[in-house]
Amino acid sequence: MDNTVEKQENIRKGWDGISRFFRANSIWMLMYCTGCCAIELPQAMTSRYDMERLGMGPMATPRQADVLLITGYLSLKTLRRIIYAYEQMSTPKYLVAFGPCTLNGGIYYDSHAVINRLDQYLPIDVYIAGCMPKPEAVMNGFNDLIGMIKRKEANGWKKYEQNKDWYRKNQIQALGELRIKDEFHE
Ligand code: SF4
Repeated sequence: MDNTVEKQENIRKGWDGISRFFRANSIWMLMYCTGCCAIELPQAMTSRYDMERLGMGPMATPRQADVLLITGYLSLKTLRRIIYAYEQMSTPKYLVAFGPCTLNGGIYYDSHAVINRLDQYLPIDVYIAGCMPKPEAVMNGFNDLIGMIKRKEANGWKKYEQNKDWYRKNQIQALGELRIKDEFHE
């Protein structure tokens, strides 16, 4: 390989590693507290588990947030707001889903008002188990996410971009009209 090309490649790799390090260690979360799982977040945030030592903190707006937390079941009305919030976040962006309600509807399985599988509408990077999840499980999930970001494995946002027509079709099927302008939705 030509010396200059090799140098440029090394610089690119170095910069990529640095940006991933900082990205993984300064995660700002948009907490859309949809269901009862959210009650475990104060535990994880306060002195006992202190998630801020991992560089994690709350963020009030989607445009500045890195992670969207879905803390439990989603009604159709809430799903619409979640989709709008996710669309406003800049990439790379990550989605963490709490509890079985986000996996299969949980105790609301087959309800007319609650969705069963969140992954039909948005890409999930990490699931946190438990109904409701213990703070230890919440911290474990965040640690998993940090590791995935460092290893370049938290790629839900890319999957969303690549399969946008499929996601959009499901979203429109569930919700009808969406106030989003893109090539998949007129
Ligand atoms: S998983 Fe359990 S605790 Fe979480 S929202 Fe569903 S019912 Fe509530």
